[in-house]
Amino acid sequence: MVLDSISELFVKNLLLPKTYIIDKPGIVISESTGHFSRSKKRMLYCFEDTFVEMQKLTLEKIGFERTNKLYYNIGIAMGERLACLSNNKVRIPRQLLKQVIVKLFGIFSAYGVNRSEVIFQSDKIIIRGSETLICRKTGIGSFYAGITAALIGSLMKKEVYASKTKCCFNDSYCEIIIHIRSQSRKEEHSEFAPCQHYYQYNFPKHIKYVRHVHSIKELIEFKQLTFSKQKQVFMNHTIFPLEVGLFGIFYYYYEKESLLDVFEAALVKSGRNLLKSFYLGKDVSKMDAIEKIFSTLGNGVLFISCSSERAIVTCLYSPYSRYKPFFFAHLLQGFLDEATNRECVLRRIEFEPESTCYRFKYRLRAR
Ligand SMILES: [Zn+2]
Repeated sequence: MVLDSISELFVKNLLLPKTYIIDKPGIVISESTGHFSRSKKRMLYCFEDTFVEMQKLTLEKIGFERTNKLYYNIGIAMGERLACLSNNKVRIPRQLLKQVIVKLFGIFSAYGVNRSEVIFQSDKIIIRGSETLICRKTGIGSFYAGITAALIGSLMKKEVYASKTKCCFNDSYCEIIIHIRSQSRKEEHSEFAPCQHYYQYNFPKHIKYVRHVHSIKELIEFKQLTFSKQKQVFMNHTIFPLEVGLFGIFYYYYEKESLLDVFEAALVKSGRNLLKSFYLGKDVSKMDAIEKIFSTLGNGVLFISCSSERAIVTCLYSPYSRYKPFFFAHLLQGFLDEATNRECVLRRIEFEPESTCYRFKYRLRAR
């Protein structure tokens, strides 16, 4: 018993320390500090519907088997990146592993993974949950299987692989089985680790407060963002935070699989549908709403200038990773389509390092 409570304390205070989110207009930062791990991540809130759309169009194009394989690989890469960002160098004592993993899934619940059970066996770990975001609407459970496998492999320093046996889409719960191999994991530099400018660009020291933009904190005060037990709901849509580089990993894999047409089509369609579904009130212009929504969700501070032929979106204090922000550019494209009643075509993306500013240029044409 005494040992239990000591190890509990160890896990809580040293391995998985308090994590908090720092929230300024346009900038959402998640920071955790502790003895063994220290991490600072630039986060972006995104809509569950966007990922659902992407998985649905991918399913239509390449079928269930290939979509599952693609999302397992994306999940593995995302887990690797998160492990790099958590900077966890310590090898966790075997007797504490179980608690660390259970705690880890507690933290995951903020991302919609509703943990109900973690079962440990000698060579495998079985994880069951329900109402898991995204897969509850598509049945693609391999995404979480990949993330989970990469994180557990990194914690245990072992080679692991995951098999998914059930999904809440067509079963009463999701089940992932992580198989642990006896070989130790080769520690090598991950190509998905944050790039050298990550910390310099994502956490600007001097921020001019820009008045027309609200922070997430203010939205909660104004009751425009609500939290239910597992879900965060903004303008009637479920949202969740992801680290900025994870969006780039989506782009990386869709490009690798020659599926950029699906990637773009899903984001544009999702953007159009989202803006269409928002109730904005009579006096709110759609462009104003787009600036506010994207800024609030952590995309930096947005300014849109628009004529009948072109739209330029300037994004100050933009989140930054090694990948070009095509995910954001095409989602925004869908919003602009809907707001202008025209078809926007992305022409170029420019980056100004001095002010960490991205500029997205679109040409507008009749639909
Ligand atoms: Zn599922």
